[in-house]
Amino acid sequence: MNKIMSFWNHIKNQFRQEIPEQQFATWIEPLLVNEDNGQLTIIANNRFVLQWIKDRFFVKIEELAKKEGFTEVILVTQRINAKPTINSVTHNQNIPLTEPQQTPYPSKLNPQFTLDNFIAGKANQLARAAAIQVAENPGQAYNPLFIYGGVGLGKTHLIQAIGNEVVRRNPKARVKYVHAEKYVSDVVRTYQHKSFDSFKKEYHSLDVLMVDDIQFFGGKTRTQEEFFFAFNALVESHKQVIIACDSFPREIMGMEERLISRFGWGLTVAVEAPELEMRVAILINKAKQQHIDLNEDVAFFIAKHIRSHVRELEGALKRVQAYSGFKNEPITLLSAKESLKDLLALKHRQISVENIQKTVADYYKIKVADMFSKKRTRSLARPRQMAMALAKDITSLSLPDIGDAFGGRDHTTVLHACRKMQELCISDQTILRDYQALQQILSS
Ligand code: ADP
Ligand code: MG
Repeated sequence: MNKIMSFWNHIKNQFRQEIPEQQFATWIEPLLVNEDNGQLTIIANNRFVLQWIKDRFFVKIEELAKKEGFTEVILVTQRINAKPTINSVTHNQNIPLTEPQQTPYPSKLNPQFTLDNFIAGKANQLARAAAIQVAENPGQAYNPLFIYGGVGLGKTHLIQAIGNEVVRRNPKARVKYVHAEKYVSDVVRTYQHKSFDSFKKEYHSLDVLMVDDIQFFGGKTRTQEEFFFAFNALVESHKQVIIACDSFPREIMGMEERLISRFGWGLTVAVEAPELEMRVAILINKAKQQHIDLNEDVAFFIAKHIRSHVRELEGALKRVQAYSGFKNEPITLLSAKESLKDLLALKHRQISVENIQKTVADYYKIKVADMFSKKRTRSLARPRQMAMALAKDITSLSLPDIGDAFGGRDHTTVLHACRKMQELCISDQTILRDYQALQQILSS
C-alpha cells in the first residue's frame, strides 16, 4: 500500500471512530485523495460535500496531514467523467469551488456506482443484462425497468450505474436519481409553495428518471398521483424510467392499482442474494477499490461466514481492515478470524431449550421452575406450551428430547402443545404477537 493510501486509511479510521456511521459513509468515505510533491489533494464529489468538509473536518485533516509531512492540503471538487480540476490554492484563502466546464444536469449520482464495478453472478445476471441494455438505449429497451430485491443486494448500485453510464455516453442527458423519500418530501414542499408547475416542468423534461426504494410511496396518495403524471409524460415521450423497490410490484403495500399495472409495462427483474463465489469476487473487488490488501483465502473465509447481503460483507471487510490497521499489521486469515469473532459467535450461537424457557418465563413474568412443574392452570400452561412450540421451531431437538427438557413430559404432550400454538396463532392475535416477539428476542 503506498504512503498516501495508508495515510488516508488512517485518517478515515479516525473519523470512523468519531462520527456516526451514516455520516461517515455520506461524507468521508466517498472522498478521493491524491498526492503531488508533498501536496495532498482531497477530492469531493460536488460543491456541497466540499463545503461540508471544509466547515467541519478540514482543520483536523490538515493537522494530521501536516504531522505526516504533507506541505499543503487542498480541497477540490471533481469534474464528472474527468480528472479532478485542481486549483492550487491553499485552504487559508477561499477554497476554490471548481465547476465543471459544461454544467451537466445535477443528476445526484454517486460516481462510484458503475456497471464496471458491479460484479455479475447468477443472482443478478438478468438485472445486470437489462441494466446494460437500458443504459445503451435509454427509453428504447424496457420502460420502465423495475428492479426489486432484498436490502443490500445492489439495487441502488445498479440503477445509479445505469445513470452514470447514460451520462458518460451523453454528458448532456438530463438524468435524475431520486430516493422515494426525497420525492415525497419534494411533493410536500411543492404543495406548500404551490409550485406544481415548476415541479412538473422539471420532472417531465427528464431523459432518465430513477426512483429508488419506491415502496416508500405506499399509502401516499398525492405523491402517487404526481408520480403517475410524471411517469406517463416520460414513458409517452420515450424517456426512460427506472425503479428500484424492496418487493415485487403487487406486493407493495398501499400502492395504487394504476401504478402497479404500469410498473409491469416494461421489464421487472429481481436481484437475489449472491452465491459464495460471487461474494468472494465482490469482496476482492471492494478491497481493491479501497486499496486494501486482501488475499483470496481471507476473502473466502469472510464470504463463507457472511451470507446475507452485500452490505454486510462490506461491513465485515471494514472491520477486518480496521482491526489490522489498528494493529498496523497486514490482513491475514488469523487477523480476520479474530476481528470477526464477535460477529460470527453471534451468528453461530445455538439457542438452547434453557434459553427459551428462561426467555419465555421472563416474558410472561412467571418462574422458570413453572416450565417443569405439573401445574395446569392456564396462566402457566400457555407459556409452557409456547416455550415447547418455540423449542420445536428453533432448535433441532426431537419431540421426546423437548419433553425431557420440560420436566420429563411425554412426546405427545409436546406435539399437542405445538398444534395448539399453531391453532392459536391463527385464531388469536395476541398469541401470534407474543409468538413473533419471542422469536425475535431469541434470534437477536
Ligand atoms: P440495495 O440498494 O439493494 O439495498 P446497494 O445497491 O446499496 O443495495 O448495495 C449495497 C452495497 O453493496 C453497495 O456498496 C454496493 O456497491 C454493493 N454491491 C451490491 N451488489 C454488488 C455487486 N454485484 N457488485 C459489487 N458491489 C455490489
Ligand atoms: Mg438501496
